[in-house]
Amino acid sequence: MSRIFRLGRAYTGLGLFATKPIKRGAYIATYRGRLLTTKEADRRESRGARYMFELNSKWTIDGSPRWNVARYINHSCKPNAKPVGRNGGIVIVAERPIEPDEEITYSYGKEYYEYFLENGGCKCAACRKKRAARRRKLREARKQRPQKQRRATARSRKAQSRKG
Ligand SMILES: [Zn+2]
Repeated sequence: MSRIFRLGRAYTGLGLFATKPIKRGAYIATYRGRLLTTKEADRRESRGARYMFELNSKWTIDGSPRWNVARYINHSCKPNAKPVGRNGGIVIVAERPIEPDEEITYSYGKEYYEYFLENGGCKCAACRKKRAARRRKLREARKQRPQKQRRATARSRKAQSRKG
């Protein structure tokens, strides 16, 4: 198997990283696994099963076997790859050119994102960057506080002079 990626340590665990430049539209991996009815997949998911890839309301791929390398591709809200239907299955293709050592990601979709919003927020690089920017803004807002304190001190001084 000619590998254009390697398994590596990502922020949230393991991830797939490009080892060569990957062109836009290029095939990366197939999402492999047993076909389950979506009903059965939902049942297993509610018991903690992961890596279920829903093809449609009727069929879902159980991608949990380790030999399904596509299961190591993490979610991103700013992905560089995407899943596309091919021959009744799912393949992951590059959505834009990917550089060596870049982590390969695709969007797991709205349902997944909403689940993470309720569970501490999405941990993809794009969302972490957004949260860091928000924290930076908060820090800057806190720096403005000394002015308020100065005003407060002036007020208390006035109050004291009234007393005296
Ligand atoms: Zn995200």
